[in-house]
Amino acid sequence: YIVVDHVCKSFGQQPVLRDVSTQFCCGEVSVIIGASGSGKSTLLRAINRLTPHDSGTITIDGVPVSDNEATLQRQRTDVGMVFQQFNLFGHMTVLDNLTLAPRRIHRTPRAQANDQAMALLHRVGLEEHSHKYPWQLSGGQQQRVAIARALAMNPKVMLFDEPTSALDPEMVQEVLDVMRQLACAGMTMVIVTHEMGFAREVADRVLFFDQGRIAHEAPPAEFFGQPANERIRAFIGRLG
Ligand code: ATP
Ligand code: MG
Repeated sequence: YIVVDHVCKSFGQQPVLRDVSTQFCCGEVSVIIGASGSGKSTLLRAINRLTPHDSGTITIDGVPVSDNEATLQRQRTDVGMVFQQFNLFGHMTVLDNLTLAPRRIHRTPRAQANDQAMALLHRVGLEEHSHKYPWQLSGGQQQRVAIARALAMNPKVMLFDEPTSALDPEMVQEVLDVMRQLACAGMTMVIVTHEMGFAREVADRVLFFDQGRIAHEAPPAEFFGQPANERIRAFIGRLG
């Protein structure tokens, strides 16, 4: 569904993506791991055009990402993104966080947008919190709202950039549970995470980033069971 073809990106003199090529297919769950600074976030941001790449092409459902306004808006509708910092609108209730984009962009009538939002909140276990503000919720709850908000646009793919890294340990599982449920429902997902247990269990493939390159890719059983090289073995070991 997403095709990344010979993509390069530098910040000033520093190459951050070096000739990255891969595909994220429909219904597939891809987990990206790798050291800090290896370019994982930059790849996700390039897919969403938050960070334009320098060369190569990224296509979403056959259409290259570009700065064309109409294309960009459609692609951002099709590609939901969840960040480490939940990025909720702090001055809006949970319900309004979920209905804003559908009402503005899809022109969904308020009553219908509310119904859809409540159904999504039910799905992430937060129905009873719809009238609260983000600051009245725990980190895990806020992140589940952020996931529901992304889903409210009915995306075809979901990108997750370390969605549990900012959470207290006891809240990690509730967020991973929501993601696991999404994966089971067949959502196409690209997930940057350090949660190796989750990767092992949910991923269809694991990509290992090293200095701006996809250094290795394998199904999780193989990736974790028979690490391809010492670098990967050491990396997995460090994360436990
Ligand atoms: P982490 O695991 O710490 O999140 P990452 O793999 O996601 O790391 P990126 O955020 O993609 O890494 O960053 C890759 C490199 O690009 C880093 O060296 C970072 O300092 C640099 N970089 C990222 N964004 C910018 C920017 N907007 N301007 C300049 N340099 C940047
Ligand atoms: Mg990152």
